[in-house]
Amino acid sequence: MVLVFIDIAEDGSVKKTALEALSYGAALAKQLNVAAEGLVLAPVTEDLSALGQYGVTKIHQVKNEALQHFDAQSYAKVCAAVAEQTGATVLIFSHNTSGKAIAPRVAARMKAGLVAGAVALPETSNGFIVKKSVFSGKAFADVSVLTTVKIISINPNSFKVEGDANGSAEIVDADIAVDAPLIKTISTSKQSGEVPLAEAEIVVSGGRGMKGPENWGILEDLASSLHAALACSRPVADAHWRPHNEHVGQTGGAIAPNLYIAVGISGAIQHLAGVNRSKVIVVINKDPEAPFFKAADYGIVGDLFDVVPKLTEAIKQL
Ligand SMILES: Cc1cc2nc3c(=O)[nH]c(=O)nc-3n(C[C@H](O)[C@H](O)[C@H](O)COP(=O)(O)OP(=O)(O)OC[C@H]3O[C@@H](n4cnc5c(N)ncnc54)[C@H](O)[C@@H]3O)c2cc1C
Repeated sequence: MVLVFIDIAEDGSVKKTALEALSYGAALAKQLNVAAEGLVLAPVTEDLSALGQYGVTKIHQVKNEALQHFDAQSYAKVCAAVAEQTGATVLIFSHNTSGKAIAPRVAARMKAGLVAGAVALPETSNGFIVKKSVFSGKAFADVSVLTTVKIISINPNSFKVEGDANGSAEIVDADIAVDAPLIKTISTSKQSGEVPLAEAEIVVSGGRGMKGPENWGILEDLASSLHAALACSRPVADAHWRPHNEHVGQTGGAIAPNLYIAVGISGAIQHLAGVNRSKVIVVINKDPEAPFFKAADYGIVGDLFDVVPKLTEAIKQL
């Protein structure tokens, strides 16, 4: 059986990355001729049975006060216990913040081989070979998993969400002992009104070409017209023009939005390392020789202070 960890957001909704993991798990289960099932640990506000549309027949739910707040250690212990109880042989996670924290812990507990950052379904005709992205997305590696229990975390936005609207899953309360958590979240403060960068479908990013923090208003306008998150290059964060949590690249966050709009960014290899998994890249730069154009799907050669307000205006008209 293929068991998919269903990641739940703070507000109780099912994350889009969880839908990708479900679709991936269901496709793999079909390929292996076994069932696909889901696992939910966090409090949820959605109707879980509707997740059957993504191909899972059953969803195991562990309802316990101790799992109310995300804690990778507790979650990993419960995941491993459910996997053992249900006899799951393949576990699927999203390679997002929670998956990156839980999957290796589950792998250590179950002595299972883990492929982190998979980008395609495994090749199972002769063994179990998973393609994953390596060298910050600049290359791919084929990894053979040799253990009986196999764990895969899939890169966000690398597998299409697919389903059949009529599908429905049976919800089962899993009888698992949950220890008291080792840590406790006392409070969380969230910036309101902003789209979180890691989950954004569209990202508008600024570089040194913006000249200074006082000019970010035009990027904020563009971002809000597209319901996009803001990001920046490293020198911008180093100069304190923008906060460091917006810095993307080799030493910053790695993102994979559907659309990445790079404004006044040259396209250094260390920057590309964090954004080259974006589905569509648009580059706005006044230098036609800027290296970023080589990685771009669409490019606008021009002065950003001229181009960006016109682009925002055109989007608002649409
Ligand atoms: C070990 C290491 C790790 C690094 N990690 C990262 C990382 O994680 N992320 C990262 O971003 N960088 C990283 N860097 C830095 C990286 O090498 C580049 O120096 C950096 O990405 C350049 O930032 P930039 O494109 O904003 O600035 P610049 O290279 O100065 O480019 C500015 C661009 O703006 C354009 N421009 C200027 N004015 C305008 C205008 N009016 N209209 C339109 N275009 C204009 C210019 O033509 C130019 O292409 C790292 C470097 C090292 C050595």
